Amino acid sequence: MKIQKAHALILGLSALLSACSGSCGKGSTSGVEKPKVVVSIFPLYDLTRRVAGPDADVTLLLPPGKNEHTFDPTPKDVATVAQAKVGVMVGLGLDTWMEKLVKEVAPQARVLKAGDRVPTITIKADVLGDEEADAARDGGEEDHDHEKGATDPHVWLDPQRARLIVKQIAEELSRADGPHGAGYRERADALDAELDKLDKELETRTAALKTKGFITFHGSFGYFADRYKLQILAVIEPYPGSTPDSKYIAKVLSTVKAKKVPALFSEPQLDARPAQILADEGKIPLGVLDPVGGSTADTDTYEKMLRFDMASLEKYLK
Ligand SMILES: [Zn+2]
Repeated sequence: MKIQKAHALILGLSALLSACSGSCGKGSTSGVEKPKVVVSIFPLYDLTRRVAGPDADVTLLLPPGKNEHTFDPTPKDVATVAQAKVGVMVGLGLDTWMEKLVKEVAPQARVLKAGDRVPTITIKADVLGDEEADAARDGGEEDHDHEKGATDPHVWLDPQRARLIVKQIAEELSRADGPHGAGYRERADALDAELDKLDKELETRTAALKTKGFITFHGSFGYFADRYKLQILAVIEPYPGSTPDSKYIAKVLSTVKAKKVPALFSEPQLDARPAQILADEGKIPLGVLDPVGGSTADTDTYEKMLRFDMASLEKYLK
């Protein structure tokens, strides 16, 4: 079990960390310690580092390119989290790996769960019934967060919700580091303006799409679709990292044909093979939608990630 592994790391590191307390992590130039902030996944990390500016040290835990639902923290990650004054995560069952870690090694840290601070939606019923969705699960991972009827945790993929999250990040950093509160709020306002601009741009671009329905690889784009009046016709892998069985694949394929779906999309964080097999069967191209970003220059900011995804949709749905 992952959490037991984390426990072993925690025990091993505790002596080291206590030796460290009071002297480690001081800013080398001013001698004043900047608050340390740890963030679970790239999109929240990008927003947090921009609000933090020069006033806080922000560390991303999940390496770009890795699936956001499962992660084994390294000893270095455990040490980083142990020093955190603020932990920023999604919550809603998505990044429980970080939630548990913060609870264990940084109980003193302020915790911001972005998903608890924005309006949420439940995972929409796809074209496939409950039975088929259940059959698609091979029982490996405990990904309850992707079950139908559960709250969809991918809140960051709607820029309007990202604006709310940015405000909350500024408030949380201000509470942890009062003297720099004005700076946090000022940078959050500037970022808010950027996100508003992005949102309006995406609204125009999605409105121009000829095809409004698409099939995603895992259940990641619900909030994006909700915001821009698009329709998720099916999800190839309802439980990320758990390859669906042939019966489920056949159902998705019949949707592809019935709805004349122009393309399928893989995601950089997951094995693309199930999507590739389906695309080959349906004789349609396979594009990429990136729900997490951070792994290439095309997606190394929040806005670039969503513009990359928008361009991908335009390429096939226009
Ligand atoms: Zn996900």
